[in-house]
Amino acid sequence: MKLKLALILTAVFLSFSCSQDTTTDSKQNIVNNRQTTGSSANDILSDNTFKSLVIELVYVEGFQPRQASIDNFVTFLTNHTYKPNGIDVQVRSIPSLGTETYSTEDIADIERENRTQYNTKDKLAIWAFFTDGKSDKDESNSVVLGTAYWNTSFVIFEETIQGLSNSPIEPSRSLLESTVINHELGHLLGLTNLGTDMQTDHEDTNHPKHCNDEDCLMYWEAESAAAISNLSNTSTPPPLDAQCLADLKANGGK
Ligand SMILES: [Zn+2]
Ligand SMILES: [Zn+2]
Repeated sequence: MKLKLALILTAVFLSFSCSQDTTTDSKQNIVNNRQTTGSSANDILSDNTFKSLVIELVYVEGFQPRQASIDNFVTFLTNHTYKPNGIDVQVRSIPSLGTETYSTEDIADIERENRTQYNTKDKLAIWAFFTDGKSDKDESNSVVLGTAYWNTSFVIFEETIQGLSNSPIEPSRSLLESTVINHELGHLLGLTNLGTDMQTDHEDTNHPKHCNDEDCLMYWEAESAAAISNLSNTSTPPPLDAQCLADLKANGGK
């Protein structure tokens, strides 16, 4: 009886080992890129494990962000993270799914279908998706411009941004794009109180995981259409305030 049990256990163990071996590292890496938002803040900020970044930037045809916005994004990453081996941006398009309204789960499904870059030994991968259609959380008086949903993933609702930018009374396209892109990256960096410990108490109690400084990039309005009015007097995206900066520095960033 004991022997039989031992044999069964061995068999189970062997088949488990085999399946582990045949799937190699890829499955493990996919799991590493599907964790909760903010949980990889230190990995993105520091060079403890990951020495470089690859940004897989994918857009639905017709909804490509401005090159100036991509440049601003790389500058923001360079200014706040330690990646001695560099930041590589890989841009490509995919066809529209023809969907008008996306839930976060729909957006995650698109990533599952199309993402090719996952963390490797010392290179961390980020998925940045620019979609057509709109968020299912849009309401008549508030629209969602972007959402960070996993530890290395965010979506920008580019069709919504295009509808709100570049008329005479609206902010420039790249200014609005840059503000929303950097804000969503800020969430991946653990702001505010989202995986990066606060050095001072500055979380907005009415809008959790956002900063209470109205002039900070991580103020809640930066990812909603309310951002428009705040951008009317400026030509650059709002920077991080001193409190958010202190949080990043304490968690391995700069
Ligand atoms: Zn936010
Ligand atoms: Zn702040």
